[in-house]
Amino acid sequence: MTLTVGVLTSGGDAPGMNAAIRSVVRMGAHRGCRLLGFHRGFEGVIRGDFETLEPRSVSNILQRGGTILKTARSEAFKTEEGRACARQVLDECGVNALVIIGGDGSFRGGHALDAMWDGQVIGVPGTIDNDIHGSDATIGFDTALNTALEAIDRIRDTASAHERLFVVEVMGRHSGFIALDVGTAGGAEEIFVPETASDLDVCAERLKAARAKGKVMSIVVCAEGDEQGGAFEIAQKLQRKTGFEPRVTVLGHIQRGGAPTARDRILATKLGAFAIEAIQDGKTDVMAGELRGELVTTPLEETWTRKKDLDAFLVALVPILAK
Ligand code: ADP
Repeated sequence: MTLTVGVLTSGGDAPGMNAAIRSVVRMGAHRGCRLLGFHRGFEGVIRGDFETLEPRSVSNILQRGGTILKTARSEAFKTEEGRACARQVLDECGVNALVIIGGDGSFRGGHALDAMWDGQVIGVPGTIDNDIHGSDATIGFDTALNTALEAIDRIRDTASAHERLFVVEVMGRHSGFIALDVGTAGGAEEIFVPETASDLDVCAERLKAARAKGKVMSIVVCAEGDEQGGAFEIAQKLQRKTGFEPRVTVLGHIQRGGAPTARDRILATKLGAFAIEAIQDGKTDVMAGELRGELVTTPLEETWTRKKDLDAFLVALVPILAK
């Protein structure tokens, strides 16, 4: 029997999603599957908005950011009726399995669909946030990290020239993976992440002590979801506590765009192909991931219920290296 595999990208876009689509399509075709690409995430499934994908349909997209299938958030899919509608479309199109490339919200949707649909549901982690249990890295994280790092290197030049304190906000509403890694790679004095309580008094004292010892510039990196607030709020509080006049840079959506790094392209290529293998192995309600160099599947529910920890060694190093 020819398997029909649907593929979609959902939620926040991430560089490397196209590389994952390409791999799903080419590996699927290699294994004799028929491939359908649904547009705008779950919205496309509900509306029956899709295209047939052949190996040639995914030419020249490996290096492109964004997603050729478009992505969206779907309120309708969060309802029973919306999912029933999606199930009907999938059945009418003869879809046997659906590959969902997205973040934890999309996996929640996939898990809910799996509970009511006979077909197989496989997740592929595509999010710049890297906050998904079951894969050491998510597709898009490495690119976002390097984009943010390039920006911080530039900020460092001007911060150094003017002998200033900069507060730089990176993405991460609930997680500090980008903040911790880019702060480490960019030599930030302080890194604020949502996972740990940030003490502004301690931070202010350290910044003042560093100045007194001759350090003329400082960079504070914060994740957008830090409990102390975003970069503007943190800068205001630090100004009150230190008397310095911090400058603020919010990196925002530039972290989502751009050509995926080699690392993201390779991860996307592996996970896309592995998703097809998982389907042929009869798996469902799981995510395809890579842990310590091994391709593994993790139950979708665990991808958001189990927490992925920040690198504790790096967290402890930050204040030591800032001296
Ligand atoms: P991401 O996948 O990047 O985390 P979102 O959190 O916006 O992005 O989720 C993407 C989509 O997944 C939502 O717009 C919605 O359609 C679907 N979704 C999220 N949570 C649920 C849920 N609990 N039940 C059903 N669908 C969900």
